[in-house]
Amino acid sequence: MEFFPLFLRLEGERCLIIGGGQVAARKAELLLKANAQVVIVAPEVGPDIAALEAEHSVQILHRSFVDEDLDGCRIVIAATADGELNHHVAVTAGERNILINVVDDPKACSFIMPAILDRSPIVAAISSGGTSPLLARALRARLESLIPTSYGRLARLAGDFRDTVKARLPSGLARRHFWEQVLEGSIAELVHGGREAEAREQLQQAIEQPTDTPTGEVYLVGAGPGDPDLLTFRALRLMQKADVVLHDRLVSPAVLELVRRDAERIYVGKARACHALRQQEINTLLVKLAREGKRALRLKGGDPFIFGRGGEEIETLAENGIPFQVVPGITAASGCSAYAGIPLTHRNHAQSCVFVTGHLKDGNVNLAWERLVARDQTLVFYMSLVGLPIIARKLVEYGLPEDTPAALIEQGTTPRQRVLEGTLTTLPEIAEQAEVHAPTLLIVGGVVKLRERLHWFEGADRNPT
Ligand code: SAH
Repeated sequence: MEFFPLFLRLEGERCLIIGGGQVAARKAELLLKANAQVVIVAPEVGPDIAALEAEHSVQILHRSFVDEDLDGCRIVIAATADGELNHHVAVTAGERNILINVVDDPKACSFIMPAILDRSPIVAAISSGGTSPLLARALRARLESLIPTSYGRLARLAGDFRDTVKARLPSGLARRHFWEQVLEGSIAELVHGGREAEAREQLQQAIEQPTDTPTGEVYLVGAGPGDPDLLTFRALRLMQKADVVLHDRLVSPAVLELVRRDAERIYVGKARACHALRQQEINTLLVKLAREGKRALRLKGGDPFIFGRGGEEIETLAENGIPFQVVPGITAASGCSAYAGIPLTHRNHAQSCVFVTGHLKDGNVNLAWERLVARDQTLVFYMSLVGLPIIARKLVEYGLPEDTPAALIEQGTTPRQRVLEGTLTTLPEIAEQAEVHAPTLLIVGGVVKLRERLHWFEGADRNPT
């Protein structure tokens, strides 16, 4: 290890930066985050430094560096384009035992700046020892996606209760178990979900009455339309944490692949008209699993609150006092439209966009057709494959032109995505000929035509999966 990692307290400490360019400005911004007293010396400063002066209590000395500038400094950063000056600063600072960093010259440095992941008070620093700062930044980006911003809040909460827990549970082992349950369980999830006051209340209760039985909980998670890249960070984290997962046909195999390997998998069906488990049974099963102390993941295609019956599932959970959280997902309309090159709204073609269910009831689609045929509006029909001919006919009957563009997107965002394009008159026939497989989404409106203008065609490598 050429450089030893440490975390340095810089609050109120004089930190000198020599140089007035962009690099100097970036370093100054970082030091300001640690509440350092930043002094910049440079005969001329660029716009980034000038902006800092306006916003922060940064002292800027508009002149050349003199050795006395080092007086009282904790650290110095030489960030000028003048190699000789940088060298002189390094030597002088070294003689005085002041920590010195020379930008882009690791050999002249007594310390180097890492790539920083800031979830204060949790901070991770990554260094490549000066060999490849870009690689260190790439690794930081990976960590960014793994560690939610809420970890900082969780650490603060733990810090606030640390002494109280210590007094209440003198045994080190008991304390460890207690904190494991808090930091991995439902209290932590409350913090991650932004419900900190509730988390504090529950933690207080848990301290007063510690129990050994973990409380189960339910995660109602939107899994997006198919491409696993469209999952949210939170969805992925909960998928890795669950003990048991309930999934249905809409959740793609590629997404299911990312659920914790040893989690129990329960298929709850829900193909059209062939429900493996009825909705009420799913609701009850979720309650039962949570009561057994399990972390139950209910994975829903798209977004749980858009034609997903998520509302009904959480109603049962709420009635039974089961802790739960809902994680939004990319709904089919967003995913399919983006991957098919059809913007859902457009200044010239669509000022509104309506999501509609095209589900058949008694062989018919009953909708407020007069409102759907409004001008310059995009219509997105979910569950509309069987009803397509009726929908197309009704829209024309209620006033939409026969040549209104329409597209049917089959298995959107997956490697099997197909887009069938036509008009309200031609699309039902085109779909019939094409042997379409569910799930499909129907988009109606002028925006469908934009696909051509955007030179979108099947197989274009815009969204490699
Ligand atoms: N909650 C889901 C919708 C569930 S309703 C969401 O937010 O997306 C089921 C309907 O969603 C299907 O009938 C189909 O119309 C649509 N759908 C879901 N995934 C799709 C996909 N990958 N491609 C096309 N349509 C999809």
